[in-house]
Amino acid sequence: MKEPDGLKKVLLIDHIEGQCRCIIGFKYGDAREAYMCGEPVYQRRGKKLSSWCFYHHGQMHTTVAQQNRESDQSAEIPQVISIVRTP
Ligand SMILES: [Zn+2]
Repeated sequence: MKEPDGLKKVLLIDHIEGQCRCIIGFKYGDAREAYMCGEPVYQRRGKKLSSWCFYHHGQMHTTVAQQNRESDQSAEIPQVISIVRTP
């Protein structure tokens, strides 16, 4: 999966439907002047139109999967301790 080159980036105020909403930077570092990715959004047949291009759609899902794994691990530790201490 190739990262967009940023050539299609659009300012928040110029963003239109069908363009990726992922914020990739800020003009002059100003939070009110956000640049969005601007690539055409990813769409699967029969699914609702995504807010993200193919690349950023994949990134969002990877992040969620990683967070789930981390919370699984932290939930397991107290269980292990309680099993060990139970007579
Ligand atoms: Zn994007």
